[in-house]
Amino acid sequence: MSDPDYAFPPAPRPALPIQGSDRLFPVRRIYCVGRNYAEHAREMGHDPDREPPFFFQKNPDNLVLDGVFPYPPLSADVHYEIELVVALGAGGRDIPEAEAESKILGYAVGLDMTRRDLQGQAKKAGRPWELAKAFEHSAPCGPIVPREALAGPLSKGAISLRLNGEIRQKGDLGDLIWTIPETISKLSELFELAPGDLILTGTPAGVGPVQRGDRLSGVIAGLPALDVEVR
Ligand code: MN
Repeated sequence: MSDPDYAFPPAPRPALPIQGSDRLFPVRRIYCVGRNYAEHAREMGHDPDREPPFFFQKNPDNLVLDGVFPYPPLSADVHYEIELVVALGAGGRDIPEAEAESKILGYAVGLDMTRRDLQGQAKKAGRPWELAKAFEHSAPCGPIVPREALAGPLSKGAISLRLNGEIRQKGDLGDLIWTIPETISKLSELFELAPGDLILTGTPAGVGPVQRGDRLSGVIAGLPALDVEVR
């Protein structure tokens, strides 16, 4: 089969390494869950009552694989948010919670880098969040650990972020307001999910700003650490 006659070469497909494999995980979409830990909802000035989860997206080509986060333009308040990333190996519509776990290929440690000042302006003006969330290099991510390589589903375990060696974010996956199966199920009511989709599942309390030269280290029990330098 010959390649289509594109007007210019198509951009390379973003892909993540899979630990213990030579194969790559080709990324289709990146979904993110907002306010999914009660303490973080409170620190952002919201009531952590169990309102339906809400979602936003990043672009697949916002992924950072080389551990370097260039400080983005037009912001003076860029925040880290450590998050568990769920990588789907299967998809569908209206996925029942009981079937959600079977759609997961693996897990990774990710950062939902956020231009907090632009997000604040967007919230105030009732505008979308893309400027704050879906900018270049806004999604540093580690390798995917296959589900079978873990003792069980990642439904609990420590999640933390260090800034220049100091603990800044600390939580437990067991404190997610919406569990991973619930999140997949709810998301699949809104979108048709597919293999290659990533879901950033929300961040625990303790978010804060980064400066050029900072070193971020995100750790989730059972997964390789994600080390990122801000340049
Ligand atoms: Mn987030």
